[in-house]
Amino acid sequence: MTNIPVQPCVEIRGVHKFYGTYHALEEINLKVSRGEVCVILGPSGSGKSTMLRCVNHLETIDAYRIRVNGEIIGYEERGGKLHCLRSEAIAAQRRNIGMVFQRFNLFPHMTALENVMSGPVHVKGEARKSVASQALALLERVGLADQAHKYPAQLSGGQQQRVAIARAMAMKPALLLFDEPTSALDPELVGEVLEAIKDLAHDGMTMMVVTHEIGFAREVADTVVFMDQGRIVETGDPRQLLENPQNLRTRTFLSKVL
Ligand code: ADP
Ligand code: MG
Repeated sequence: MTNIPVQPCVEIRGVHKFYGTYHALEEINLKVSRGEVCVILGPSGSGKSTMLRCVNHLETIDAYRIRVNGEIIGYEERGGKLHCLRSEAIAAQRRNIGMVFQRFNLFPHMTALENVMSGPVHVKGEARKSVASQALALLERVGLADQAHKYPAQLSGGQQQRVAIARAMAMKPALLLFDEPTSALDPELVGEVLEAIKDLAHDGMTMMVVTHEIGFAREVADTVVFMDQGRIVETGDPRQLLENPQNLRTRTFLSKVL
């Protein structure tokens, strides 16, 4: 039998990021396998959002490489050097990477259904009829089939965030990025959004999730990453990292949030 190396979905290798002279990411190395749920924890300002934003090239990087499904994100390599990709090529890469932010940023003038349909129809140019039935199925999956024709302003924050998740899924991404998806929600609405994310995780969706919800990390994560001051300080499976953190900074952080 030959061993075929399994390519990770995400490979972040030797990544540095500066904002001016500020060193926001320092030597980040991280692999996320297909179907893996990677939860990223860390104090405010530690670089979690920056790292996620680099993965879909909302930020440029200063070294070295980020690959998603083997493809370098944002750049192409010629003669050992990286050259910026053209904007159409970047857009094509981003179509494959869904992102859900803290604020639900739905299109306010579109219904829930139209929001979910917007990517496949306007970006991919797919036929409205088949997109509509897929979008309805996605809304049903996040428990919102009966809210399909409401506008964002008529929905609760938790419902809006579930529409945002359905909208990201409508593009059939290879990877979903979540940046504090429940931080802007009233506490009683957090659970329904985490349930929707958990459901996707059980279905094998590859995801990177920045969150402060330690219970979610414990239950759903395959890997937990702890960041501090622009570095990955500790990586492990949830039991190991959350119950028995090796690093002093991880321990201090967890003692504050648990
Ligand atoms: P986190 O998501 O962990 O709270 P961020 O990735 O947002 O952290 O920020 C990491 C650091 O980089 C912070 O010190 C923040 O102030 C800084 N930073 C983030 N975005 C910018 C930017 N566009 N310009 C300058 N500094 C930034
Ligand atoms: Mg952040």
